[in-house]
Amino acid sequence: MQRIIKLPGTLLVMLIICVPVYAQDYLKIRVSFKIIVSPYIGTNPPGINAPAIESEMAEVNRLLQSTKSGMLFELVEVETVGGVQDSVSLKFYDVSVGVRRDELEIAAELDPINYKWREDCINVYINGATLGRPGACSFPTFTQDEVVFLSSEGLVATTILHEIGHFFHLIHTHQGQSPDSCDGYTGGGLPGSADLIDDTLDDFSCWDSIDSMSMYHFSQAFNDISDPASQKLLLESYHNIMSYHQDEQYLTADQMKRWHDKIWVHTSRQDVVTGFPRYVDKASPCTLGCSCSGRPYDAYADMDCAIDATVSSQDDVIIVAPGTYDLTTKTINSPLLMISTKEGGVLLR
Ligand SMILES: [Zn+2]
Repeated sequence: MQRIIKLPGTLLVMLIICVPVYAQDYLKIRVSFKIIVSPYIGTNPPGINAPAIESEMAEVNRLLQSTKSGMLFELVEVETVGGVQDSVSLKFYDVSVGVRRDELEIAAELDPINYKWREDCINVYINGATLGRPGACSFPTFTQDEVVFLSSEGLVATTILHEIGHFFHLIHTHQGQSPDSCDGYTGGGLPGSADLIDDTLDDFSCWDSIDSMSMYHFSQAFNDISDPASQKLLLESYHNIMSYHQDEQYLTADQMKRWHDKIWVHTSRQDVVTGFPRYVDKASPCTLGCSCSGRPYDAYADMDCAIDATVSSQDDVIIVAPGTYDLTTKTINSPLLMISTKEGGVLLR
């Protein structure tokens, strides 16, 4: 029998199958929130509670779903830690999250019961600080690298997604900007191009409007640009989740590719995700057929290989680059999700 499967996004795919295909759940990224209560009166920081966290995480998932990356966050729990004159609260309730992040992680891993630390979740702690950075997270290559620490100002969907972007090794769009800091910035210098992402424009965190970026790259104001591809590039770069600008809302296909790759590379990231993203790309340089790994930078060229591997693992999703793929008739008895992070059509035949 032939069925048409509607992929998330814009794709309609013809797939020849022999049994019904279920709607596969997305890859789930498990998140555990911990609210650090006041050491003086034992209450939550003002405005920080489970409904507020649930509301922001719903918005985070809306943003993540728009990336068409086959992933969603699962808010596993919202816990409180510490108490009146408790050491957890005394140490971490009212401190800079950027300065004390590593210390928090060390303390939590040494005392997982009192800190309610979980190895199978991203551990997000929120304290009562109202000054300093709203959030902090390390990259997955450092020794202390598994905690997200938010101040009470950091319970904002874009901040949460930005910090978890760092958790999966996304780098600021302005990385490498010169001068290094925008403190006392008076103009000049060069924008950053060191985010290791192909589909974001070089960025300067001091730019205060999309026209600044547009004038630098295209010598035109944003509204004067008629090419849709250039407009899209500007919008996704300037309003990028990993930028320091306003209205951050985008993560690009190449950013999600890097994110996905870190799931393959780091076991500490695999611990919090329910499966693997397997990439298929007609243009993949890998010529080893089904012996390609399916990792983002070692994609299968052949769709059959991805389907066979995914059906056998049952927990993975397939990320498809645009193109036409020939399939053999096959029996599929387990959930299967195919999704494309790139613009363009995918035809399975
Ligand atoms: Zn950051």
